[in-house]
Amino acid sequence: MAKQNEAVFNPIRINADTCVRCDLCDWICPGDLIYKEADNKEKLPVVAYPDECWYCGLCQSICPTNAITVIFPECMIHNKTDVVTLLGKVLE
Ligand code: SF4
Ligand code: SF4
Repeated sequence: MAKQNEAVFNPIRINADTCVRCDLCDWICPGDLIYKEADNKEKLPVVAYPDECWYCGLCQSICPTNAITVIFPECMIHNKTDVVTLLGKVLE
């Protein structure tokens, strides 16, 4: 969960013109973050918990009309932390 006063970044953009409201993105999201009102062909899916997105890209992959674009935050694109630091250990 995001800390209080911390800006929440929306991890995916959904094109309202090409989305056919099929519910597949809601179904496949491994974190159950996307919510799509079942059988409602008017409403777009929404990311209910945007700060918990794993950026796995499954929603974008399964979308039959390519209506979803995953938007990576700057800190992920320009990550300067090396793998060893991320793992917290050095293999000998
Ligand atoms: S998978 Fe694509 S077309 Fe289907 S509801 Fe999600 S965004 Fe819309
Ligand atoms: S990128 Fe993965 S975790 Fe994030 S909303 Fe899409 S399916 Fe869910």
